[in-house]
Amino acid sequence: MKNRWDAAAAAALGDDPLALRVYSSRLLGADPALVLHGGGNTSVKASVPNLFGEAEEVLWVKGSGWDLATIEAAGFAPVKLDLLRRMAALERLSDSEMVRAQRAGMIDPAAPNPSVEAILHAIIPFRFVDHTHADAVVTLCHTPDGEAIIRRLFGDRMLIIPYVMPGFDLARTVYAMTKECDWSKLEGMILLQHGLFTFADDAETSYNRMIAAVSCAEEYLDANSSSTAVSGEEPEPDLLVLAAMRREVATIAGGGCIARCNTRHHPFASRERVADTVGKGPLTPDHIIRTKRTPVVVDGARWRSQITAFTEGYRDYFHRHADGHTMLNPAPRWALWRGVGTVAFGGTVREAAIIDDIVDHTVAAMERAEQMGGWQALPESDLFAVEYWELEQAKLAKGGSKPELSGRIALVSGGAGGIGRATVAALLAAGACVAALDIDAAALDRLDANPALLTVVCDMTKREEVEAAVAACVRRFGGLDIVVSNAGIFPPSQSIAEMEAADWQRSLTLNLTSHQWLIQAATPYLKLGIAPAIVINGSKNVPAPGPGAGAYSVAKAGLTQLARVAALELGAFGIRVNTVHPNAVFDTAIWSEEVLRARADHYGLSVAEYKRNNLLKKEVTSRDVARLIVAMAGSTFAATTGAQVPIDGGNERVV
Ligand SMILES: [Zn+2]
Repeated sequence: MKNRWDAAAAAALGDDPLALRVYSSRLLGADPALVLHGGGNTSVKASVPNLFGEAEEVLWVKGSGWDLATIEAAGFAPVKLDLLRRMAALERLSDSEMVRAQRAGMIDPAAPNPSVEAILHAIIPFRFVDHTHADAVVTLCHTPDGEAIIRRLFGDRMLIIPYVMPGFDLARTVYAMTKECDWSKLEGMILLQHGLFTFADDAETSYNRMIAAVSCAEEYLDANSSSTAVSGEEPEPDLLVLAAMRREVATIAGGGCIARCNTRHHPFASRERVADTVGKGPLTPDHIIRTKRTPVVVDGARWRSQITAFTEGYRDYFHRHADGHTMLNPAPRWALWRGVGTVAFGGTVREAAIIDDIVDHTVAAMERAEQMGGWQALPESDLFAVEYWELEQAKLAKGGSKPELSGRIALVSGGAGGIGRATVAALLAAGACVAALDIDAAALDRLDANPALLTVVCDMTKREEVEAAVAACVRRFGGLDIVVSNAGIFPPSQSIAEMEAADWQRSLTLNLTSHQWLIQAATPYLKLGIAPAIVINGSKNVPAPGPGAGAYSVAKAGLTQLARVAALELGAFGIRVNTVHPNAVFDTAIWSEEVLRARADHYGLSVAEYKRNNLLKKEVTSRDVARLIVAMAGSTFAATTGAQVPIDGGNERVV
């Protein structure tokens, strides 16, 4: 384990305890082998002057919702130290009461809720306290001889605490165990199955002790096991099975779902007795909120019955332990896909990424523990207590609304410019994951980076590129629900008599045929989609063609007919197909200032008048069209298919 302490950087902070606390907390947060996604917490004790100039002893402790990797001074909650120490001596206190009392004891009511481990930090008589859930230490805890090994490695300088549920019970246990202890002989505590604490009166020593302890555990693991190298080529998952599993999980969970397939885990997923290993329990109890106690194990064609069996098993587990609790949705959070790897299921792309990270660390720990006598885990009842902790249940009751397309997966062709670009932005804002396809790689690069966005360079006039782009979207996000078939070109104005054969053919290929290819490639996945929809970008030229635009208008008319036939053919599968007919959307690439000026002059209008030359005298923007497309993809149009909706400010030739 690398020691990241930089003496010069720390010295620049002087002796400001909170600044040093922020600094070394971030060093801990920088290493995912120490803390992962909000795990771990830190504190510092200091004297703060109050309004009356009196010194007040406070514990600055990590606030919940903050991540050590990015924490700032504002992420620490200042709680009166005396209050916390007195709370430790109470016989009983529910965790909800504890949280309320801690909040009331803050000297800054605007600070975040103090960590649930605040009391434990308070009773440790050192200024700096560091707490992590280091992989190496918890991995040792999950081996048959783990406790004995830990006692041998750390027993003389660390207090070993048996597993107790985090929160008040843990603080109370440590309080009772340390009443008589000589703290000056201790550098830290190991909390079995949970993590470790180190402490000292200065930030550097406390940090160094953490790194030294974790390094010691890592060295022991390295001497007694090996991390498994990825062997051989990674398998390609069957994308139709992936999409089908994703929909099944989404249906059970009652919402959208992103499925992230990780084939780097294929050697682990191919082990003979891997189902026994993963069936025992998670790496640390705090992961259970994200991952559930166990994954579903699936293989080949039996995945559906295996997911059903998992959810039935989950209900049984719930009823074995439930005591007035509300059941969480019983869908699996991750799958071990035999021979292929793992799949993380999240309501959002962020949640799926967090689960994938946790699974990554869990798989590595399980690999090592299996070489050291076999993976062990806490009893089911202890894990249930964390999964159904009153504080988590309270969060659940609060709920919260999600954006409409949360957990949904969309693909937009021609996604880097004009209406396509605005549609990509609108879909992302509505909560969807989006694959943006475009031939213009530089324009794709200019889209704002977003973990929910996949950019694919794709020439829509090449059928194999269209098929590969659809596959790339499914591979990345786990399925496909929404296709916005938008790519198009506006060829140079030519009469039918003067038509260049190449211009005619190019318009037909891109404005018509490529859309058929996209629909064809997407249909198998849309059949497995969640409330699937196709939105076609047509044109005002369909109901109201103009001279000189034959190649364009004919292709767009064909495209509209394609959409109508698709609505007829795909309705039975619940796939809606609707068309928008925009007109005069001037904030797109084809309308340069020069072209606008020329067209306006042609009609004897100013540019501003020309832009509003419609019944509503309203300029139509790419964003307006994008909003209509997103509405068509969502529940507003749930009962509509085969429709054509103009978006043109009102055109007297169309109404
Ligand atoms: Zn902890």
